[in-house]
Amino acid sequence: MSKTPIISREDVKKYLCSLPYSEFVKIATYYAESNGISISSDMGDFARINLDKRLEKLGINSTCPCCQSDKVIKYGNRDNVQVYKCKACTKKFSRFTGTILEKSRWQWELWVKVLEMTLNEYSLTDMLNVLEKDYCCPDIDIKTIWLWRMKLYHAMANMPSEILSGVIQVDETFVRESQKGSKHLISFLSKEERIPRYGRHPSKFGVMGPEFSTVVTAIDDRGYCVCKVACMGRLNVETFYDLFDEHFNSPAYLCSDNNAVYDEYCKLQHIPHYVKPSDYLKVLKDNGLDPTDLKITDADEREKIKHKLFNDDLIDRILIDGDSDVMTYNMFIKAKNKYNLSLGRVNELHSEIKKFLYSEKTNVSTKHLPDYIGAFSYIHNWRVRNGHYPTSQKDAEEIFVELICNRTNLTISEVTNRNIDLPKPSGQYIAKLAIETERARAAIKNKYFKFCPEDGMTTFKTREYLYSLPRKKLEEIAREYKIKGRTTMLTYVLISELLEQDDIREKIYWLIKNDRNSLIDEEDAEAIRDNKYRI
Ligand SMILES: [Zn+2]
Repeated sequence: MSKTPIISREDVKKYLCSLPYSEFVKIATYYAESNGISISSDMGDFARINLDKRLEKLGINSTCPCCQSDKVIKYGNRDNVQVYKCKACTKKFSRFTGTILEKSRWQWELWVKVLEMTLNEYSLTDMLNVLEKDYCCPDIDIKTIWLWRMKLYHAMANMPSEILSGVIQVDETFVRESQKGSKHLISFLSKEERIPRYGRHPSKFGVMGPEFSTVVTAIDDRGYCVCKVACMGRLNVETFYDLFDEHFNSPAYLCSDNNAVYDEYCKLQHIPHYVKPSDYLKVLKDNGLDPTDLKITDADEREKIKHKLFNDDLIDRILIDGDSDVMTYNMFIKAKNKYNLSLGRVNELHSEIKKFLYSEKTNVSTKHLPDYIGAFSYIHNWRVRNGHYPTSQKDAEEIFVELICNRTNLTISEVTNRNIDLPKPSGQYIAKLAIETERARAAIKNKYFKFCPEDGMTTFKTREYLYSLPRKKLEEIAREYKIKGRTTMLTYVLISELLEQDDIREKIYWLIKNDRNSLIDEEDAEAIRDNKYRI
């Protein structure tokens, strides 16, 4: 009979030391439970000591965080953490002061794991599962993880921003206003509304009422972006200047739609301005130049029509100090091709943003939106700089060190006491906007939307939309839902049946998407799908 080899204590020690943190905690927890003792406070101390050492190694707070003096002395211990005193300003501080780790009882490895899961867009429930099962985290809940993630987003949002250069594309995108979690619901239509700090430029046309936060985005030809929540409702040139000018380094071109804000800005800074009107495709279509359905096949003829549309300022053009007559059509085409002038990149960025915001965080509260948007920009730019998305543990740890070194912290009371602090439109402006919106809808012959002045919501008239479809089409949809008796049903009954289907929004979204004659723009179609418009 062979004897089982005995494992020495040294072997056990070696083995324990080689374990990743999550495995070590599992064993320690098992030991504690089988002996009926609690180790959570010991683990907390253990975490603090470990974090203190790491912060020291990173050189955090090696000078006074208050006055930056290097005349600091050790001043005893508090809760196992080294305290320092500044001889210049007499303030006491620790390595943790002012960092994201202040008051943290979580181990370094946990922070990195939570950041890694945040970067990989885990849902809060999945994060909770991992922390409970793999890391034996005691007393943790969804709210704690939400706050934790908020702290990380805030830290990312406060990292130094990129400076954009070369050809820069700019545009706004709109995020439906949400006051989820606010203590006091503010009606944006109430008379108590404060006077806007900005507000010189009334809207021309548009779907963006005060119920939307305007996110302004800019992206250069290297792919770096700057995205900011600018205001509620319409953007104006002052706000744009204040938020973006410092991030632009003598651009070669600014590309935008025909929003006058960008033209004013370009005139102010003498930047050549490429304008692609938002009805660009419609104009082409109306003149027989639909790129997907060429009625005029003769190339020379097409060029001639384009040339005329260019001369009439109806399609894309370049403005120099607000003047489009500086360039001939040929000069324009040359410049357009050479500098790759378009809005493609910024449109792509917008779908990335929507994906990021709505992946799980449906109804991002407006007061937290700047942190979400800031974190999005940081991650996007990190990807451009490094050539890949930050998904690994190594990437997460690298980013975590960057965040700590940048020294920003969002405290729990700061999160809970947050208020919306964005320029908002005035009551008169909103009334005007309602009229303009209706007029704009009428102008594009889109009868399916209605602006409701009472609550500032835009409604999409699903029923009317379905009524406009041919009977055959309705029956086709009904067949997909396996609605019985669809061929003999009265049309209004059939429509009522369809409206009761769970995913009817998604269905309508695809109907609109596939209908080339539809005059509903992309932004609106997405909003219908995302439940952003009341149906
Ligand atoms: Zn000091």
